[in-house]
Amino acid sequence: MLLIHCPYCEEERPELEFRNAGEAHLVRPADMASMSDEEFEGYFFIRSNPKGLAYERWRHIHGCGRFFNAVRDTVSDKFVTTYKAGEPKPSLKEAANANKAARKSATGKAGA
Ligand SMILES: [Zn+2]
Repeated sequence: MLLIHCPYCEEERPELEFRNAGEAHLVRPADMASMSDEEFEGYFFIRSNPKGLAYERWRHIHGCGRFFNAVRDTVSDKFVTTYKAGEPKPSLKEAANANKAARKSATGKAGA
């Protein structure tokens, strides 16, 4: 079972306690009334959906109930890091390096 670290509860919990809430760090436009249909479509419907590391919003729905953000590898389904809502997002380069280090230690190649 996949374990996800909740940054509020400060512990890893089973994935069944969590729900994905879409892409993270989307900024609501200040003046939506003046947006063109294309601009509104881009804000409301179009998501980046990258292959690899992605910023996502998650909710610990069967725990503390709070929203938080995560960097997850969409290929391996592994969570690289989680952090509280409102905290600055880590750079994908740093997250990728942390992910590589975690993979190496998981396969026993750390320090080789
Ligand atoms: Zn929690």
